[in-house]
Amino acid sequence: QSLFTNVVSADEETDAVKTDLNEDAADDPAIWVNQDNPQNSLVIGTDKKAGLYVYNLKGETTQFIEAGELNNVDLRDGFPFKHKPSAIICASNRSKNSISVFLLDKDSLKLGPIYDIKTELAEVYGLCMYKSRDNDFFIFVNGKSGIIEQHQIIYKEDKLSSKLCRKLQVNSQPEGMVADDNTGDLYIGVEEEGIFLAQADPSQPSDLKLIKESSKKYNDKISYDIEGLALYKKDSSSFLVASIQGSFSYAIFDITNKNRISYITSFIIKSGIVDGVEETDGIELTTSTLNNTYPKGMLVVQDGFNTDQGIARSQNFKFVSLEKIESFLMK
Ligand code: CA
Ligand code: CA
Ligand code: CA
Ligand code: CA
Ligand code: CA
Repeated sequence: QSLFTNVVSADEETDAVKTDLNEDAADDPAIWVNQDNPQNSLVIGTDKKAGLYVYNLKGETTQFIEAGELNNVDLRDGFPFKHKPSAIICASNRSKNSISVFLLDKDSLKLGPIYDIKTELAEVYGLCMYKSRDNDFFIFVNGKSGIIEQHQIIYKEDKLSSKLCRKLQVNSQPEGMVADDNTGDLYIGVEEEGIFLAQADPSQPSDLKLIKESSKKYNDKISYDIEGLALYKKDSSSFLVASIQGSFSYAIFDITNKNRISYITSFIIKSGIVDGVEETDGIELTTSTLNNTYPKGMLVVQDGFNTDQGIARSQNFKFVSLEKIESFLMK
C-alpha cells in the first residue's frame, strides 16, 4: 500500500449499522443536498442485510427503514410527484428482486416507501439513477449475470408507473454505476474487468467501451474489485472517482473529454479523528457547500472494517471533506 502517496483522513463517521460486526452489511451511500438549508442535508446508506439508514451530517442516525436487503441506493431531486418537485430515492432490493422507491418529505426530512418496480433479473445488485435533459427519470439496475435493465419511473394523472426501456449486457459481474445527467454518459463498473462507458439515454445505442486505464491489465494502480463510482465536477472539468476495493484505495479519472479518458492518481483514507477506511464498497460525493466542515462538499465511503479505539464494530460510512481531495485532481 506504499503504492499510494496521496493520503487523507475522514472528518466524521456514521453510527455503525445494526447488523452484526462479523457481517458485510453497510454497502452504498447517496447524498441529498438540502438546497434551502445545506447544513441539514442527508446521507442515505444501505445495510444490505436490513434496510435503509438516514444520517445527518454528523453521522447520527435520524431514521432507519426496515425495507429488506437493500444493496445500492441513489436519488434524484425534482421528480414531479403530486405536482411538487420531490426527491425520490431508489434502492435495489435483494429480498424482492425489485427496485424499492422512496420519497423524501422535505419538511420532516423523513423517507417513506411509495412504490416497488419489478425486475426480470434473477438477482438484483448494483443501481444508479439518471435524469435526462427532458426531465425523464430512469433507474439502471444490474444483476450478477451481467444484465443491466433500464427502467423509467413516471408520475402521470396522479399515478406512479414504470416501464422497462432497454437492457444492456456486460460479460461478468457488474455493480457500481453512475450516470452523468449533463452529458448523458453512463459508467458501469465491472468488478473484475474495469469501468465501461455507455450512453444513458434509451434512444442511444447500447454498446459499451472499456476505459483502458481502469483495467488491471493496463494500470498497475488498479486491483479488483472495482466497486463504487461517483462523479466529481470541478470548474469546467469532470472526474470519475472509483473505489478500488482490492487495495483500499480510490482512483481518479479525468473524463472531461470522453474520447481521451485518462487515469490521474489514487488516494487512500487513513486514520485521523476516526479510523481509516478499508475495503470500500459504495461511494458518493457532492461538490455543494454543506457546512463549515464541508465547505467544498463531501465524499462518503463505506468502511469495511470499522473500529473505535481499536475495537471492532459493525460497518459504517465515513465522511471526508472534498477540500482535501481537490489538490489530487491537478496531477
Ligand atoms: Ca449510491
Ligand atoms: Ca461487490
Ligand atoms: Ca456492494
Ligand atoms: Ca476502518
Ligand atoms: Ca469508527
